[in-house]
Amino acid sequence: MGGMEQRFVEEAFNTNWIAPLGPNVNGFEHDIAKYLGGNHQVAVLSSGTASIHMALELLGVTRGDEVLCQSFTFSASANPIMYQGATPVFVDSEKDTWNISPELLEIAIKDRIENYKKPKAIIAVHLYGMPYKAKEISEISKKYDIPVIEDSAEAFGSTYFNTPCGTLGKFGVLSFNGNKIITTSGGGALVTKTIEEKNSAVHLSTQARDEAPHYEHSKVGYNYRMSNVVAGIGRGQMLVLDDRVAARRQNYDFYKTHLEGFKDIEFLDEPYGFFSNRWLTCIKTSSFELREQIRLKLLEQDIESRPLWKPMHMQPVFKDFLHFTNGTSEDLFEKGLCLPSGSNLTKNDLNRILHIISGTLKNI
Ligand SMILES: *Cc1c(COP(=O)(O)O)cnc(C)c1O
Repeated sequence: MGGMEQRFVEEAFNTNWIAPLGPNVNGFEHDIAKYLGGNHQVAVLSSGTASIHMALELLGVTRGDEVLCQSFTFSASANPIMYQGATPVFVDSEKDTWNISPELLEIAIKDRIENYKKPKAIIAVHLYGMPYKAKEISEISKKYDIPVIEDSAEAFGSTYFNTPCGTLGKFGVLSFNGNKIITTSGGGALVTKTIEEKNSAVHLSTQARDEAPHYEHSKVGYNYRMSNVVAGIGRGQMLVLDDRVAARRQNYDFYKTHLEGFKDIEFLDEPYGFFSNRWLTCIKTSSFELREQIRLKLLEQDIESRPLWKPMHMQPVFKDFLHFTNGTSEDLFEKGLCLPSGSNLTKNDLNRILHIISGTLKNI
């Protein structure tokens, strides 16, 4: 926590706004919109997953529709496709950003159109905070008239040629889950281009109640709105977002400076114009065995590190769905490791971690 969160939460208690609406909800939405710049509208919801779900609803994705989704991601990117009874089609990554490959995306779209199954949406992800190739993806989106849902859950604070992540798609998605760069303990936001879209998202997220003195419903609704107490934490966290980004980027710089001399380790550099919040510092090692050696050495000292996300097309729950792959995400899953990346790591913590990793590398 940054320090101011409790003040906003206390205000909610003092004014008795303990509900999924109130001044903190409006204030948090306003703060996010201001941070993102432009004329973006923001609806804060109970999670990033709920926000992706609402984006699919707003796009009219329904039973039997196909939705293209980056395969190299966390399952929450894809699960809402299933909630809608729709069908995911997974697309592999390219090597410069580890995100959705524009080439494969176009191949997948052409294939689906030839099979009379034109996809209804594209879910692209800025994984680990690194922006995807937004210009290329937007061009494909325009060319085939398929909207992009921009999963920016891991990339709040990242920018693409100075444009904030979260504003690059038709709809943007943020997450404030406990593990994200800023957190409300749990929560998310849907970023829209128009007030009408925001209002629809809020309507659907508050049980789709129509105007009437009694309870009247003409659509199936959801209970997805963020509470005013939780939004108070968010207002406090907005004050420290840029500090958190700076701290995470420093972690990355530290690891990179001290480890880049080892030929068995690769880092993911920012392509020109790409600015990553470096939510997690990730490395790609030269082999599965080395990755495991490093991970287990760290674990011996009670230090947690994790393999990179297991691609969706390899997950038991999604393995039977169509996928367009090129080996990139499978290779990353096999050899990649997320290093400890918290914004509260001390110099001492970092040196301890470094010592273990470089010791392992010198011994191979
Ligand atoms: C965390 C995350 C989500 C989901 O956000 P929640 O707020 O945890 O529901 C979606 N996509 C990605 C890539 C994530 O990392």
